[in-house]
Amino acid sequence: MPGILVVAEAAEGAVTPASFELIGAARKLSGEGAGPVAAFIAGSEAQAKELIAVGADSAYTSDAATQADILLPAVQAAVAQSGADIVLIAQSSLGRDLGPMLAFANNTGVAMDSTELKIEAGRLRATRSAYGGNARAEHTWKSPLQVVTVKAKSFDAPEADASRSGAVTAIAEKGESKITVLGTEKAVSTGIRIEDAAVVVSGGRGLGDESAFKALEELAGTLKVAAVGASRAACDLGWYPPSQQVGLTGKTVSPNLYIAIAISGASQHMAGMAGSKNIVSINKDADSNMVRVSKFAIIDDYKKVLPALIEEIKKLG
Ligand SMILES: Cc1cc2nc3c(=O)[nH]c(=O)nc-3n(C[C@H](O)[C@H](O)[C@H](O)COP(=O)(O)OP(=O)(O)OC[C@H]3O[C@@H](n4cnc5c(N)ncnc54)[C@H](O)[C@@H]3O)c2cc1C
Repeated sequence: MPGILVVAEAAEGAVTPASFELIGAARKLSGEGAGPVAAFIAGSEAQAKELIAVGADSAYTSDAATQADILLPAVQAAVAQSGADIVLIAQSSLGRDLGPMLAFANNTGVAMDSTELKIEAGRLRATRSAYGGNARAEHTWKSPLQVVTVKAKSFDAPEADASRSGAVTAIAEKGESKITVLGTEKAVSTGIRIEDAAVVVSGGRGLGDESAFKALEELAGTLKVAAVGASRAACDLGWYPPSQQVGLTGKTVSPNLYIAIAISGASQHMAGMAGSKNIVSINKDADSNMVRVSKFAIIDDYKKVLPALIEEIKKLG
């Protein structure tokens, strides 16, 4: 019977949030008739059980190093043992290498950075953005194995249910690496991670200069659960760190509230925040795309609006 294999990852001893999101995607596909969900992790049995608790029906573990060429034979073995015809991998640094390698090894194709997945007539259809966010490409496969890498925050992670159970099988296969990793460097970030924040306050080129981001940080601090983001234009100008860029070539966020300040709403920016539950904008231009997609918009100079907004929020305690 066909099915789905999720290639999960662990970082610093914990299963990554993107892995749980992949299980959410797999459960959705399973509900549409894609078969059972198996998970693979280069990690411990306890981590495999965490994946089962959120929705995998079974799991495979490997003690191979998390490097694509070393992991490939183990993932191949998990595909063979599970009988999966769909493989979901995160669009992570590992996934960017592993997805194409797995597809090549199986004479099939890979849809990279997909944001939507559905089953149609028993086969997978994956959607991703194309042409710098100006078009959407839909992919189907002619060959039996369908390999996808999935953009973070495209699917919700299911709630864990500790009563769920399933078989965990250790896989011994591992490959040899042709690459020597000289070192890794952790991106420095302070405060709430933008991907995890309930509220994101983002600033764009219309802020006019770097110092305006101090006011955005003050607003975020006042809201307590907020992180500060920026458009690519603002990051390219050096006003805010690239690690905080939202959009097609930046982070994908889906907060409860996205406050866009002096951002026009270019398609490439929208690609990173269109999943926000509520969008509020401050913009001088009532016809800007960001204002059009906003639930509430304040049409004025942010320099007038922002101090008043911060004062009012402070009064609420
Ligand atoms: C391949 C590719 C990838 C890209 N990836 C990304 C990406 O990941 N993220 C991203 O953001 N962009 C990305 N871009 C760039 C994108 O196309 C836009 O150029 C960019 O998003 C514009 O940023 P902005 O909205 O800050 O600036 P602008 O488009 O210049 O908009 C500024 C806005 O501020 C408003 N404004 C001006 N002054 C004030 C004021 N005093 N008070 C209130 N409002 C004011 C204006 O009305 C305007 O709406 C990408 C482009 C390409 C080609």
